Amino acid sequence: MRYLILSDLHANLQALESVLADAKGLYDQVACLGDLVGYGPDPNDVTSWVRENVSLVIRGNHDRACVGDPVVEDFTEGAQMSTVWTMQALDPVNVAYLEKLPAGPMEIGTFHIVHGAPRHEDEYVVTKNDAINQYPFLPGSVCFFGHTHIQCGYLLRPGRGTTLRGPRRKEKHTSYQVESGWSFLLNPGSVGQPRDGDPRAAYALMDEALREVSFHRVAYDLEETQRRILRAGLPEYLALRLAVGR
Ligand code: ZN
Repeated sequence: MRYLILSDLHANLQALESVLADAKGLYDQVACLGDLVGYGPDPNDVTSWVRENVSLVIRGNHDRACVGDPVVEDFTEGAQMSTVWTMQALDPVNVAYLEKLPAGPMEIGTFHIVHGAPRHEDEYVVTKNDAINQYPFLPGSVCFFGHTHIQCGYLLRPGRGTTLRGPRRKEKHTSYQVESGWSFLLNPGSVGQPRDGDPRAAYALMDEALREVSFHRVAYDLEETQRRILRAGLPEYLALRLAVGR
């Protein structure tokens, strides 16, 4: 089976559409690591697309916040404002859907998905040491995570690890073999709000037969997303940050 791995879509419809066009024909099923909503201007379109097209989905902290979970109290001011806006914008059918999303880890084929970290769904894995510290909690030999909005991967053995990078600015993708004897902790990056300095939308593909994972980037019409953010009355910095990928 070939999987398209999506994380941190954040109500960015333009980014999602570009990813789907770029990955067309390269996958059989979609897995989604959460944060469908929050920050972005199109929570209903993005949630409806996931609801209708993806059966393998877990919740992110923003999905919980936007349906009333007190996790919102830990958010920055801008994130809280976007949560309030999203709560008012969401259709009841999408609220009901987000409320029922399960927590990770979720087992899919030969791998697992979590939102933040194997140890806890709200934990951030930012550095190689963070990844090494997650080793005892890995649910299997291949685990995808999101939450940091930084596309990367870690090849792990007890007490040590190697960082796997995503494509550089002029590249569209990088690929790695999933070798046995190692554990893989892999972040597909964020579709809707990248924070690794590359404003292009990020995603990953996992080919179980070839034992190959690839990290991809694709440009999208971020000016249109920026216009929609401003038109919605969301904080201006949520529009500005998309252009720098921070
Ligand atoms: Zn997120």
